[in-house]
Amino acid sequence: MKTIGLLGGMSWESSIEYERIINEGVRDALGGTASADLVIRSYNFAGIEALQARGEWEQAGELLAADARQLERAGAELIVLCTNTMHVVAPAIEAALTVPFLHLADTTAEAVIAAEHSTVALLGTRYTMEADFYRGRLEQKGLTVLVPDEPDRTVVHDVIYDELVQGVVESASRAQYLAIIERLLERGATGVIAGCTEIELLIAADDLAVDYFPTARLHAEAAVAAALTTDGST
Ligand code: GLU
Repeated sequence: MKTIGLLGGMSWESSIEYERIINEGVRDALGGTASADLVIRSYNFAGIEALQARGEWEQAGELLAADARQLERAGAELIVLCTNTMHVVAPAIEAALTVPFLHLADTTAEAVIAAEHSTVALLGTRYTMEADFYRGRLEQKGLTVLVPDEPDRTVVHDVIYDELVQGVVESASRAQYLAIIERLLERGATGVIAGCTEIELLIAADDLAVDYFPTARLHAEAAVAAALTTDGST
């Protein structure tokens, strides 16, 4: 089994779910007392959020790349960045590594394509909904990606930063999200990507009548599969 390096804390509310899902996946696969081999760098999210807000992506990239390299030095054989948004700096991280980097947009696209959807709704931070680093990667794989119009886009973004990353899960926000999703389905989406790792703390598959793609779960499950593929040994 390969050692997985997690770049997390963005926010820890979702990173802790990554850790749980990865450990459960290894236990399910190997049984007994087996659990995942992990090395983790978990950030103070206030610092990361400040870099985002100031648009200091290059500095953020240098920070995450240096820490990804440290995870590799500490034994990580693949690297998982536990946030959609910070994949803005995925190229800097990948350039710093000699081990594989499991890109979240790729694991998401694979799940959407496997479920035979071509037009999907994408909810996430403003960075993820508006910039090309994530949408573009989905579109390159042939998907049509719909994001909320304003003011819905601001609602989706604000609920993430003002509530979910702070551990606040409000039923009123769930209702707002479901109404926003309904408008995206009316525009032609046939499935919904929770393109922020905290959204699955608010919206569950059972809340929707269409296919749901929870990116943290999909990414964590892909990490387990990648960790177990090489030789199957423990
Ligand atoms: N975890 C979030 C995401 O998946 C948002 C927090 C962040 O900005 O990293 O995009």
